[in-house]
Amino acid sequence: MHYYSLGKQSPNVDFKTAAITGQAPDKGLYFPTTIPQFTKEQIERFKTLDKASLAFEVMKPYVGDTIDDTSLQQICAETIHFDFPLVPITDKISALELFHGPTLAFKDVGARFMSRCLGYFSKEAKAEKIKLTAQRESEQQSESEHSIEKTLTYSKPSTVLVATSGDTGGAVANGFLGVESVEVIILYPKGKVSPIQELQLTTCGQNITALEVEGSFDDCQAIVKDAFMDAQLNTAYHLTSANSINVARWLPQQLYYFFAWQQWVASYGDQMPMHIVVPSGNFGNICAGMMAKASGLPLGHFVAACNANNVVTRYLQTGNYEIHKSVTTVSNAMDVGNPSNFVRIMEIMQNNFESLQKGLSSYSYDDASTAATIQRVYKNNNYILDPHGAVAFLAAEQFIKEQEVTHAIILETAHPVKFPEVVEAAIGQTIDIPASVQFLLDKEKIAIPMEASYQAFKAWMLGKVSV
Ligand SMILES: *Cc1c(COP(=O)(O)O)cnc(C)c1O
Repeated sequence: MHYYSLGKQSPNVDFKTAAITGQAPDKGLYFPTTIPQFTKEQIERFKTLDKASLAFEVMKPYVGDTIDDTSLQQICAETIHFDFPLVPITDKISALELFHGPTLAFKDVGARFMSRCLGYFSKEAKAEKIKLTAQRESEQQSESEHSIEKTLTYSKPSTVLVATSGDTGGAVANGFLGVESVEVIILYPKGKVSPIQELQLTTCGQNITALEVEGSFDDCQAIVKDAFMDAQLNTAYHLTSANSINVARWLPQQLYYFFAWQQWVASYGDQMPMHIVVPSGNFGNICAGMMAKASGLPLGHFVAACNANNVVTRYLQTGNYEIHKSVTTVSNAMDVGNPSNFVRIMEIMQNNFESLQKGLSSYSYDDASTAATIQRVYKNNNYILDPHGAVAFLAAEQFIKEQEVTHAIILETAHPVKFPEVVEAAIGQTIDIPASVQFLLDKEKIAIPMEASYQAFKAWMLGKVSV
């Protein structure tokens, strides 16, 4: 399996190179040269396969031979080591709860898979270096010196730089904690993440460093973007990104759809189509679902639920793709003005607008409807939605009504406790903190204060490397 750049100006690479570099040299996103096709027999077997084996079978074609089977089995088993229950909310709408991972948001799966892949590749490079050094000592040949040079640069530890509005940082910190030869630097906007999110970012220690930036999420993201373009920093560090642009974070998200489908056919049989509503920001998650469908998983229609940041909703209505500066909403993980994975969706749809309209719908809702929905669903159905799930719930209701279908599922992408302000105001009571994150409350926050300036960030990075 190889990957080509959607920028079309860079050479094809294997999974390893795509995972290590994140983006192609031409700044395009990587996309698989062929989408693996599962046979009817495989799909039939998938119905009852255990989660870890299913994860391995889905990921294996994408990883190819860059990771040996035993290691990939272990990576998959660790990645999905928690529950993904499909829970009925009403008689028409069920929630696939993706918040049972260590940081209570769906980004755990992608972050855990990617971190373990990078850990595997850096261990492999280290072993290779030791082998070559030994070879040089015994042979003293100039030829092998050349290859040592090459390996040395390749095995320079990776530095993952990531800007977060909340959920990504926690998932990446948790996923990469203790991974050898990988250092993680997280930039987050001071005072703009929720208390639990901040603890998840700032209490890891070890190879994880949090920078508390005096500015907005956009400022954090601008610093990270500048860093990737900075030749001096890229000489000092082997920088890589951990957002859904990276295939190692994007592709494992397909697994949710396989797990949902297993539970769906167990409840409803395999004749009723499973329509799926996905709260969308950068469109990585929904795009992964569309890949799963393109590879043969019999899924129904896809619906992208959006907040006021509704470039795609409007595109589907008007045919005009107009990007905007993002606006702040209560479902802040979807505050994206220019969704980076949309080009991948267009690639799946062979860049055909009519195919896109056939496979994807989108609806957009404002903050007032979001809060009212959290309140209503709590009152009527005794289910606490988070703001992102609430946007999806609204979209599911509208889709069911307009298309006259009987059922849809929504992806519940985060635990409501991560957004206490809006959820607690809507339901009129406090939310219990799950036992799995209670321990964070006793931990000490450690963050490095940073002004929102690229110069300040760069000076800090360069100071770090010379020590
Ligand atoms: C990241 C995130 C989203 C958006 O996912 P995309 O893959 O960027 O579309 C939705 N909900 C929550 C809670 C998130 O953290």
